[in-house]
Amino acid sequence: MKFRHIAGDPMLDLVNTVGWRLGGSERTESLNTFSDVVDWCAESSLIGGDEAAVLRDLCERDEAGAERERRQVIEARERVYALLFEDAPEAAAHLAGMFRTAIAAADLVRSGEGWQWRDRETDLRSPRHRIVRGLVALTQRGDLDRLHQCEDAKCGWVYLDTSPRRNRRWCDTKDCGDRNRARAYYARQRAKSI
Ligand SMILES: [Zn+2]
Repeated sequence: MKFRHIAGDPMLDLVNTVGWRLGGSERTESLNTFSDVVDWCAESSLIGGDEAAVLRDLCERDEAGAERERRQVIEARERVYALLFEDAPEAAAHLAGMFRTAIAAADLVRSGEGWQWRDRETDLRSPRHRIVRGLVALTQRGDLDRLHQCEDAKCGWVYLDTSPRRNRRWCDTKDCGDRNRARAYYARQRAKSI
């Protein structure tokens, strides 16, 4: 896997395609090319293997169009972050507009026991449309009270805290958890020696 999938909802994992979100100039972007977006969608089961090949082919033929799509995916990602973590009503309005465009390109079809949106064709817009529909579905979850942001000062990764005691403090205990515990330990040692 090229991307981390730790958030408990694929669309929150999309929010985490930014590293050090709260780290100012240290912030890093993981979706640097349209191909990265395709890879992320494939890992998250938003597109199949055949579609990924079609999309890569389309990207080669229209690099500027693919880049515009990548930027719109990032915009949708940032809108949902603003909506969920900054409670921004203008972000909700913008996401709703992107959703109207996304459902206009799809039909509601039977899938197993339920129903789902299916794009009428696979083109460069497909990743964006599926991501936007997924992001809106995320906002409708009934358990967003479990939404949490890693308590590291710079990390900014988000996840659903499904731990029984709702006390998951870190995106990853081996990463931000260990680093912050070590930092707290050395701070205590320093305080003792003063
Ligand atoms: Zn973290």
